[in-house]
Amino acid sequence: MANAQPSAAGTGRGVAVVTGGSRGIGAACARLLARAGWTICLTYRAEQEAAAAVARDCDAAARQFRAEHGITDEPTPAVAVGADIADPASIPGVFATADRLGPLTVLINNAGVTDRQARVDEMTADRLSRMFTINAIASILCAGEAVRRMSTRHGGAGGSIVNISSAAARLGSPGLYVDYAASKGAVDTFTLGLAREVAGEAVRVNAVRPGIIATDIHATTGDADRPARMASSIPVGRPGSADEVAEAVAWLCSPAASYTTGAILDVTGGR
Ligand code: NAP
Repeated sequence: MANAQPSAAGTGRGVAVVTGGSRGIGAACARLLARAGWTICLTYRAEQEAAAAVARDCDAAARQFRAEHGITDEPTPAVAVGADIADPASIPGVFATADRLGPLTVLINNAGVTDRQARVDEMTADRLSRMFTINAIASILCAGEAVRRMSTRHGGAGGSIVNISSAAARLGSPGLYVDYAASKGAVDTFTLGLAREVAGEAVRVNAVRPGIIATDIHATTGDADRPARMASSIPVGRPGSADEVAEAVAWLCSPAASYTTGAILDVTGGR
């Protein structure tokens, strides 16, 4: 199993690629996985400073992990890679960078976009193309890179892929962004299929479906106040935090989830 116990020679966890790790849910995942012993390779599109700050947080978390486990050597520094994953040609370079840090054992397919709230009869082909390219196609391409490294079929030692979907995949988001919801539906179906495709090759594939989480993404829909405004419609009475989503992601990556594959885990406060 890839997620071995820490040893004096290193954490034994390997490298985790977190796409869209500069902000929000991806940043929380990167910090938490570093705290659990993974070496982090995070990606960003535009926010270089924010990505560098998250990488520094990961280094501090890695030092904390090592101190707690009596590991005396310095951690491999986290790396932040600028890559617009809307361009498929940018993806191999991300994984080549990760290869230089150590063996890849985790991929978090987190980078994702929404768009201005709109009805389907207002949507353009350009909008749909961007939405599906970033949310669905790039995730599948990244997963292909990861499987080529992790799968025992390719000489790898196994690993875990977590796709960040959305509760929108089952709610449909009418009048808001049906295209976004549909792209996340594609992520769910892809998760089920890939999980079964590589289950016998020591690679686990799962998805987390966040509900309404307080991050910057809502501003891009033209509705920055949505998390606060929707609070009373969420069964637990509040929006979630990026850290709460990251906890579910980190569990799916951990040895504790060794028999969990093809699962789609709602982190929605009951919504
Ligand atoms: P966010 O705060 O807007 O952060 C998005 C991240 O993705 C940033 O790191 C951004 O990089 C990166 N990114 C965006 N477009 C990219 C591109 N073309 N190439 C590379 N990186 C790109 O979003 P979030 O709320 O944390 O969402 C993270 C994931 O959770 C997404 O897949 C989203 O669909 C999903 N989700 C979110 C919620 C929610 O309520 N927040 C709910 C359900 C699902 P830069 O910083 O460089 O721009």
